[in-house]
Amino acid sequence: MEYDLIIVGAGPAGLSAALNAEYLKLKSLVLDSDRAGGALSQSYPWKEVDSYLGFNDMTGRQIANRVVDHVRGVGVEIKDMEEVTAIEIKDKKFHVTTENSSYVSKAVVVATGIRGTQRKLRVPGEGLEGVSHFVTSVRKYAGKNVVVVGGGNSAADCALGLVEAGAGVWLAHRRDELRATGENKEKLLKSGVRMRWSTVVERVEGDGRVEKVVLKDKKTGKTESVDAESLVICIGSVPSKDYLEGLGIKMDGAMVKVDENGMTNIPGVFAAGDIVCSIKRITQALASGEKAAYGAFKFIRNPYWE
Ligand SMILES: Cc1cc2nc3c(=O)[nH]c(=O)nc-3n(C[C@H](O)[C@H](O)[C@H](O)COP(=O)(O)OP(=O)(O)OC[C@H]3O[C@@H](n4cnc5c(N)ncnc54)[C@H](O)[C@@H]3O)c2cc1C
Repeated sequence: MEYDLIIVGAGPAGLSAALNAEYLKLKSLVLDSDRAGGALSQSYPWKEVDSYLGFNDMTGRQIANRVVDHVRGVGVEIKDMEEVTAIEIKDKKFHVTTENSSYVSKAVVVATGIRGTQRKLRVPGEGLEGVSHFVTSVRKYAGKNVVVVGGGNSAADCALGLVEAGAGVWLAHRRDELRATGENKEKLLKSGVRMRWSTVVERVEGDGRVEKVVLKDKKTGKTESVDAESLVICIGSVPSKDYLEGLGIKMDGAMVKVDENGMTNIPGVFAAGDIVCSIKRITQALASGEKAAYGAFKFIRNPYWE
């Protein structure tokens, strides 16, 4: 079956592109390597989302469920667990290959976010059970000790979510200052999170799963052994951009360059969301997804007003 539009990534950007494509009567398919919902359901399902006008009392998962239901409800086909591995152009059509199948379309929107592959600490014991890069349910950590590593918003959100759920939390950051936003910094300093500045993880110990996390103060050289059941590493990610580079899309580091219609340097390939927006927030992702859908509509239908 041939689609008008294939949207790669079912986060806020991809789902916004899908909703608008449906409104514009484009036949579209959304593919996601995980479950639809994007960072909201994958990185911070438990957190009450901030700076999203009117959605102050909803968690990432609640918003993700609502938007996914909305888009499926208007009839858009969304396929979970379909990682896109290549996009090729043959006879002016886009051939999108996933691990399971391949699909054809007239245009493509890339909305894969920037999380990519999670960065590793590269310390002994990192492969033990109990080491992860995000927390899907904070409640299961209640009454347990957790070490979180990182100094950005992901680490701050994770530490705050865990401490609010009743976990004992250590936050180890290799610098003296957090990169997290002012609001998160304030919340952290008032929370019960035990801050460990200029601190790195030296090793993780345990018999099959995490039992101790050994921290090292970079300034004094002193080590501290924390009895913990889990280590959550929130130190960013390396973008999975191989398939974009394979297609010849111009990138600026991890970001894709687009024009005023959301189109990349390859005609018919559009991009939206964190992968193009300098401010990485839900509202920006929604707006850029909408723009990409309209851009794709103009490209496919070439309407009379253009
Ligand atoms: C911890 C954390 C907390 C945040 N809190 C807030 C907040 O409170 N308020 C706010 O406004 N913003 C917040 N953000 C930012 C916001 O979530 C992002 O700006 C937004 O999700 C970006 O949407 P997106 O669709 O571009 O990318 P994402 O939401 O990252 O979605 C990308 C999707 O693409 C899929 N994908 C990736 N590669 C492939 C592939 N090869 N094939 C198929 N699918 C693929 C992924 O599985 C994912 O579902 C937060 C981000 C994080 C990490």
